Amino acid sequence: MKAIPYGRQHINQEDIDAVVEVLKSDYLTQGPKIEELEKKFAQYIGSSYALAVSNGTAALHLCTLALNVSKGSNVITTPLTFVASANCVEYCGGNVYFADIDPDTYLLDINKVKALIESKPKGFFSGIIPVDFAGYPVDLEQYRQLAKEHNLWIVEDACHAPGGYFTDSTATQQWCGNSKFADLAIFSFHPVKHIATGEGGMITTNNEELYKKLLLLRTHGITKNADLLIENHGGWYYEMQELGYNYRLTDFQAALGISQLARADKGLQRRKEIARKYDEAFQGTSLKTPKPHPGHAYHLYVIQVENRLVLYNHLRNKNIFAQVHYIPVHLQPFYKQKGHTANEFPIVEEYYKHCLSIPMYPTLTDDEQQYIIDTINNYLATY
Ligand SMILES: *Cc1c(COP(=O)(O)O)cnc(C)c1O
Repeated sequence: MKAIPYGRQHINQEDIDAVVEVLKSDYLTQGPKIEELEKKFAQYIGSSYALAVSNGTAALHLCTLALNVSKGSNVITTPLTFVASANCVEYCGGNVYFADIDPDTYLLDINKVKALIESKPKGFFSGIIPVDFAGYPVDLEQYRQLAKEHNLWIVEDACHAPGGYFTDSTATQQWCGNSKFADLAIFSFHPVKHIATGEGGMITTNNEELYKKLLLLRTHGITKNADLLIENHGGWYYEMQELGYNYRLTDFQAALGISQLARADKGLQRRKEIARKYDEAFQGTSLKTPKPHPGHAYHLYVIQVENRLVLYNHLRNKNIFAQVHYIPVHLQPFYKQKGHTANEFPIVEEYYKHCLSIPMYPTLTDDEQQYIIDTINNYLATY
């Protein structure tokens, strides 16, 4: 059996043709493919606006900038995420606070968030960054209620959940990242994510004011829009009105994104099929499988196993490259040096001892999946 990774991209001939076409065109960057991807992505997710950026981390950074995170700002996120969800607060000089996870959904526990907010003076916190971990959708309606009570903004890190949804109190399906209840949402197009452009990311929102701010910040804070200029010296004239960055996506990446987006639903259906097969295969074993949810986007399929290191090594020896998501962020040396300690968040730390992400991606074949299942079940029978 050839090596099986935990996740991987799917590139077909149409993707390649789409990229080559742009390479032969007039625009490698700042051309028409960006807007086309943005329009189609906004439509797919159900937001009014979408803004393509160079990667998911840049998307997070632009969000904290647009929301005026600065020295002294205090923001809450989950310790169970990729470090970028927290780092975007640090980039702006703000402080990150963590709250523990729910042991079943693995999402940021809203009751722990409430307790954290109430433990500090009124107005202490400015925002929350919930994460649709593994593709399990955050109930953002509940977070909006909490945010309203405490005057907080919400940035949804939806990197794991394009196509995922939760059902709100009016029985309406709310797509992850549609920004109905969040101020802003972000996605990544890294190759292990659902839609791959190499590097790439997207911000979605329904807030026109924030969208305009993000547009400026993506391109050095520079505008050429005659309606926005303070002075105007002629056709060449532009103004740098804010300290922005170059966080643009290229047109050939956008073309790849457009082509990938067209089969995103197919990929999601396949992910759900793979999840169902794993669920069935491990039913009645000692493994803990993911809590089912109809709107789960299955970026990851995380199991919990008694002795994770032994199973991890066993799988590696059989050419199955499982992965661990994630080392809790507060235990990273950078965050420990800010005062975080072991045993601070017992639920996520216990989760970390046992979690393992087994292969989950649309092009995983039935034979490969059966091989993975047999290998794991053999392990369980042996150890
Ligand atoms: C991948 C990921 C990011 C960062 O995205 P990049 O495109 O790699 O910068 C942020 N948050 C989460 C939850 C992610 O999975």
